[in-house]
Amino acid sequence: MNRRQPLVLPVLGGVIAFALGIAALQSGERSRASESERLALVEAHHLASEVQAKLNTLAAFLDESPAEAATDNMIYWFFDGNTLSARPQRFASDKNLLQQLRNADAPALLAPVTSENGQDFVVLTVPHGDAWRGVAMPADALLVQPGSDALAAASLQLSWAGEERDTGIFQAGMGSALRDNEIDFAVPNGTWRLAYDTNVIAARQELYWALLTVVALLSYTVAIVLHRLSLRPRGLQGDLSRLNERFNNINAELGELLVKREHARDRLFQTAITDSDTGLPNRQAFVQRLEEALTAMRGEPGSAPLVVAAVGLRELEIAEHTLGRPVIATIVAEVAARLRAALGEDCQVARVNSFQLGVTFECDGSEAALQQVTERLADTLPGVYRHARGKLNMSPHIGIAIANDGYRYAGRLLEDAMSALTDAESSPAMWSMFTAESRDERATMIQLESDIRAAIENNEFRLFYQPIVHTASGALRGFECLVRWQHPVEGLLGPDKFIGLCESTGLITDLTRWAFHEAVRQASAWNDLRSIDGYLSVNLSTLDLRHEGLAEELTSSVLDAGLSPSAFRLEITESMIIDNVSQSRNVLKELRAAGFGIMMDDFGTGFSSLSYLRQLPFSAVKIDRSFTQAIASDSKDYGMMRNILNLVHFLEMESIIEGIETSEQYDLLVPLEPVYLQGYLFSKPMPAIDAEEYLAEATLKLPAAATSRR
Ligand code: C2E
Ligand code: MG
Ligand code: MG
Repeated sequence: MNRRQPLVLPVLGGVIAFALGIAALQSGERSRASESERLALVEAHHLASEVQAKLNTLAAFLDESPAEAATDNMIYWFFDGNTLSARPQRFASDKNLLQQLRNADAPALLAPVTSENGQDFVVLTVPHGDAWRGVAMPADALLVQPGSDALAAASLQLSWAGEERDTGIFQAGMGSALRDNEIDFAVPNGTWRLAYDTNVIAARQELYWALLTVVALLSYTVAIVLHRLSLRPRGLQGDLSRLNERFNNINAELGELLVKREHARDRLFQTAITDSDTGLPNRQAFVQRLEEALTAMRGEPGSAPLVVAAVGLRELEIAEHTLGRPVIATIVAEVAARLRAALGEDCQVARVNSFQLGVTFECDGSEAALQQVTERLADTLPGVYRHARGKLNMSPHIGIAIANDGYRYAGRLLEDAMSALTDAESSPAMWSMFTAESRDERATMIQLESDIRAAIENNEFRLFYQPIVHTASGALRGFECLVRWQHPVEGLLGPDKFIGLCESTGLITDLTRWAFHEAVRQASAWNDLRSIDGYLSVNLSTLDLRHEGLAEELTSSVLDAGLSPSAFRLEITESMIIDNVSQSRNVLKELRAAGFGIMMDDFGTGFSSLSYLRQLPFSAVKIDRSFTQAIASDSKDYGMMRNILNLVHFLEMESIIEGIETSEQYDLLVPLEPVYLQGYLFSKPMPAIDAEEYLAEATLKLPAAATSRR
């Protein structure tokens, strides 16, 4: 018995150990299982946070105001779910360009760019007819910063291929300037190259779908994890039910977001097609309707043509700053109401830009029918418009375009009506019709613009010189530099053929720069000019006066040539100063302080000559040749000329009388000393080589010249 006892204990011990081992193993197994469950739970929490974060981004995305309306001086841009479009609002001072941008029917491309020196810009480009037009403005000038998500997605680069950067307005002809994803903008002294990603517009839309997909995938993953956990309920029920609750909330939130998104889409659409100030359809909506009408017209041969009128409210534009936006909106709405009254409630009126309305109406397009319509408009539109702050007298102008089979694009139709409007606004008539000739004329203008650009580059411009002489002695005082274009096909062209276009396109600043540098080059080559202490005068445009660095630029160009600014005069045509007196004054003051003589050109052709004479720092006045023409035939004109000269003398300025053609005129002017004269009687403008000869002869009369000068 005793020998068996020791066996029992180890066996018992073994059984207990085994049981303990099994228990230990089982408990180890259990603890491993609960560890993996915990890890899964942590993973689920993590995923839940991620889903929540994505949801927040989505919500922010939807909350982001779709139509970011910058106040007054910047731009509006909006995204209607498919296109990103932009509406410029008084950020550029170039009215012509603004007009072009407003007229552009295609969506604009608005893009952030960083220039080589690290400055951020926003570039707005608009396809306009056969050209692209653009504006670059410093990014910090925008009240609305372009959203980082949509716009930054565009891979844009702006590289500079010239000597000097220009942050102002630029434009470029298409053709060679436009390649697939790049546009070259010719600007003074070089070219901006804008490389852009055409997918910019799609980027924002894609972002939304990408986020939605991520949310869906994450939710799915979490659901799987939860399902796995639910199979192992031990010890984790509390956590799981909290997680479940969280996901239920997320699901509800997601549902709300989807509804919200639908509303946002509707809102976006409305914003995109409505003018927020007046509630009228905007340009986009108008063009869309025209597009539909054109399509319908094409489908029904023989149907009535589509008549489109653009109504221009110039007076409103002028009074914009004094009236303010709400008042302007009331007046625009009143014009729309009067249009409906004149054309019938069925007509479609839209605000196609701040100061223009577009309207389509029923009309068979015949001359008689159009006559009737315009008469009704002439009865209804002009007159007094009352508003909260008083009343405004307006005489709106109208441009009309009639669509025939030749029209493929609705935007072009509206543009043609606007182009006719521009004609009407520059003529005494209230309305003007766009014709086939108008189209040809426009095509010619576009061609001419690109030819002028090329002519500047190819050095086809020449300066001609017309002498300015002292009255009694006939001694040479200086030359006026007048630009000519040595056209390779047309021959020598006078400024009347190109200056106007240069001014309306902004090319004039390039031309002035060229003319001034050429004058400096010539002056430094003409020793004789220095020996008679003579000057060269160069014509400036008001656009030049908007360039704040003008005085500095001209001064350094003169000093670099070893000359003095006093050997140069700058002529500014009186009628052009009206554009922007305060800015002109600053630049003119700087020029005067630098030593340049400043002459008011064509005195007597503008409206406020006398007040400008007092306000602006002129050193001389050039009296327009219309006065000269009249003096011989009319004693009143002669008396007026005398009084003008007295006035100029009283203001201690020099006077130059332009346009002396006959010895009779000359004889009448001699007693009116001391004045200087310019006209065909002495010489027509001549090329440099002849002017040099004239100068050499004048130098021989040096003593007389020296004594006769004031
Ligand atoms: P403006 O500055 O008043 O120049 C005088 C114009 O009168 C010149 O015409 C000149 O040829 C013309 N003229 C001079 N004497 C007589 C005369 O006795 N009888 C008649 N009938 N005409 C006379 P042009 O060269 O055709 O220039 C016309 C205008 O073009 C200039 O008027 C000026 O406003 C503009 N222009 C010319 N060159 C430039 C330029 O480089 N830049 C700018 N911005 N404008 C220029
Ligand atoms: Mg002149
Ligand atoms: Mg003149």
